[in-house]
Amino acid sequence: MSSVSLLHPPQGTMTSSPPTQNQTDPPEERNAGNLNKNSDQDHTNSSYVALARRYRPQTLDDLIGQPALVSTLSYALKSGRLAHAFLLSGVRGTGKTSTARILAKCLNCTGENQQNQSPTSSPCLTCNSCKDIHEKRLLDVLEMDAASHNGVDHIRELIDNIQYQPQSRFRIIILDEVHMLSTAAFNALLKTLEEPPAFVKFIFATTNIEKLPPTILSRCQRFDLHRVSQEELASHISGVAQKEHYTLQPDAAQLLARAAEGSVRDALSLLDRALTLSQNQAVSKENVQLMLGLTGDAEIFNLFDHALNARTHDLLSNARRLFMTGAQPQQILKDFLRIIHHLTLLAVGTQSLEQNAPEQDDPHNDYYQKWNQQLDIPRLSRLWSIIIRGLEDLQKAPDAMEALDMILMRIVFAAPLTHTSTPASTPASNPSPEPHEGKNPQDQNLQKTHIPQDSIAKDVSQAFPLSTALPPTTSENP
Ligand SMILES: [Zn+2]
Repeated sequence: MSSVSLLHPPQGTMTSSPPTQNQTDPPEERNAGNLNKNSDQDHTNSSYVALARRYRPQTLDDLIGQPALVSTLSYALKSGRLAHAFLLSGVRGTGKTSTARILAKCLNCTGENQQNQSPTSSPCLTCNSCKDIHEKRLLDVLEMDAASHNGVDHIRELIDNIQYQPQSRFRIIILDEVHMLSTAAFNALLKTLEEPPAFVKFIFATTNIEKLPPTILSRCQRFDLHRVSQEELASHISGVAQKEHYTLQPDAAQLLARAAEGSVRDALSLLDRALTLSQNQAVSKENVQLMLGLTGDAEIFNLFDHALNARTHDLLSNARRLFMTGAQPQQILKDFLRIIHHLTLLAVGTQSLEQNAPEQDDPHNDYYQKWNQQLDIPRLSRLWSIIIRGLEDLQKAPDAMEALDMILMRIVFAAPLTHTSTPASTPASNPSPEPHEGKNPQDQNLQKTHIPQDSIAKDVSQAFPLSTALPPTTSENP
């Protein structure tokens, strides 16, 4: 078994907290009570264990944002309708490996007093089998990373080793990133997968299910893990922060959850960083903005309004100021995309579908209403494309600030509100970097010159070849 390496080093010691502990707790590592109790010490000693590992889910009920998977898997376990192979598919950080280990516990749990004669949907976490799986020392549960063990020899060795009767109920093979196996390795696996010994269960995890051969897919019971919603993530990390004796402001939790993009692991890693940077055990929205290189909403809305209204001096000087204070150009553009997305849903009347739509009392609703009047769907699509292209350009550009300038100017040219065919030169003598609408005389001139949308669209089409890739708009047709 020398080539079968564990995915992760062993974790901290497990305690024997009874499973009857408050089940309404956030889905956290109830079993890691030992570590949780000493969390203050952990922060200062070298054996600090990352939150993402300490708060790994231990039972199906702990899994966040996967209700369909939990109910199907629970039913399968209760009814005994269990396949030889399970396939867990989903993007990174959604809990595939955690689910695999939970499933291993469900299959092998003997119960506290050895009363479990068959698999269970709620493992006791206290029997030897549960404990050994938690500490990754149960020889009957093998974890292999297929990304680094993808050859046919790895699979042959694995299969040779699973033929003997296990000490536990099942011998369980967890293959992570299974899509990375070579064709020969898949073929070697297939024979065993067709007729495995009755005591063998395979659990495959993959981030790329399209790469799996149909012959493998058809032999697996498949479960899809979904991205976790921002609300669920925010609520989860708030609970974790509380357990760590930190105060996480609700808007700080929302920002962290948004940055995690549906991944529980990323959300906890970001929380870890935020807690480290916090002062007086409190994490504010400003802490998180600073940490993530985010800009305050008011600044972003002002900047976008400057762009739409072609106030070029205010736009570029403000962008420069934000950049100098740590704002990330990528993040500014991503925030613009969020605004454009919301405006688009608003324009087609489907904003109720939006997961994180602004509240009724959102301070920026006036902006949204104004822009909703001014921007139609073709303009919004054009803005979207320009910014998406801008994000790509930012990665290639040698100077991020210069690239941001250029992208912002493209947005100005695509804005439907004012005519900007004469690019505005920005006088360096203007002392005020603060956004004052129309303060710059040249900007004022720009605002006075309103022209029909058709004409602007043509300007933009000529200025940017990009527009050929855009969806056709009525105004662009000759
Ligand atoms: Zn157990």
